[in-house]
Amino acid sequence: MKRVVVLGSTGSIGTQTLDVIRQHPGLFQVVGLAAHRRADELQAQAHEFGVTHFALADAAAAQTAGLPGGLSALIDLATLPEADLVVVAVAGVIGLEPTLAAIHAGKSIALASKEVLVAAGEFLMPLARARSVAVLPIDSEHSALFQCLQGYRLDQISRLILTASGGPFRGKQTADLENVTVAQALDHPTWRMGGKITVDSATLMNKGLETIEAHWLFDVPIDRVEAVVHRQSIVHSLVELSDGSVLAQLGWPDMRLPIQIAMTYPERIGPPARPWNPVDTPHLTFEPIDDVTFRCLALARDAGRQGGLLPCAMNAADEVAARAFLDGKLRFLEISDVVEEVMSACPTGTVDLANVLETDQWARVRARESIDQRLLCSHE
Ligand code: MG
Repeated sequence: MKRVVVLGSTGSIGTQTLDVIRQHPGLFQVVGLAAHRRADELQAQAHEFGVTHFALADAAAAQTAGLPGGLSALIDLATLPEADLVVVAVAGVIGLEPTLAAIHAGKSIALASKEVLVAAGEFLMPLARARSVAVLPIDSEHSALFQCLQGYRLDQISRLILTASGGPFRGKQTADLENVTVAQALDHPTWRMGGKITVDSATLMNKGLETIEAHWLFDVPIDRVEAVVHRQSIVHSLVELSDGSVLAQLGWPDMRLPIQIAMTYPERIGPPARPWNPVDTPHLTFEPIDDVTFRCLALARDAGRQGGLLPCAMNAADEVAARAFLDGKLRFLEISDVVEEVMSACPTGTVDLANVLETDQWARVRARESIDQRLLCSHE
């Protein structure tokens, strides 16, 4: 029996994690739950799973609901003495401190919040290795890479190839993207996900974040992490070994499988949904990815290559810019402009918790200034 804490339990990954747990009541016990601000839904989950430790990340919402709240409540949950595994599925970099606390407490981590590794992989992964804590990826591409890499050494790997659906704007040129709407950006061809990650999929920033995530998870240099467009989202990623052999993992685009794999590793249990069959999708296609039109991918690769605090700043700027786009305050093509502007002003420094948190805040302020400036200009 694995005792599980789910941070981000009312989000897309969180609810699917609870689906997996619901299917295997003998294997998992939920001991802690945290949501962002949906108190009613959280309390319903706590009631269903008999959980007594639960909290809201949003301190104001927690106070209204009379629940524990804020970062300290999340850290308390991540370090619950009875927990074995912490599923980190909160939106964005707010997952960083709870993840660090869970690693310090020796809990296994199932990580969906890629922003945590993007901002802090440089010190988080060495800490996890030093503590012999498993950081198991939930992201579908990284789950695929993780599975294909089993049994191979670092020196036997020549390339990691992430697959990308290409998002709703695949094949479009810059001019076609001038006036795209929020509804168009949210119309993802294969995956149903939260709003921020769907915008990141449309800009290809998601693939950029995943490039950095793969770099930290698997210790492979950024320039050996590539991406290819694969519209069907059946091949979840590929690994090329030093002899040129290419391995892939295939399945329906259904997050319950990567979630279950992270939760049961190293065991395998029955499928969470109908397994994929090759004749179901006989035509699998691959095409080059366009990081000229979709500049966020090139910016993220550049941030990953330069390292330091740049990925943290880039990630924070993107979070603010994607939100501003969703709120109708920024045009689609301006997302990459804001990210680039913040990156070009990013201070240098050692990558430690204090500097990461400070850079994250700085980049958010800087991104908001950039967005306000653009709004002013567009109204003149
Ligand atoms: Mg992914």
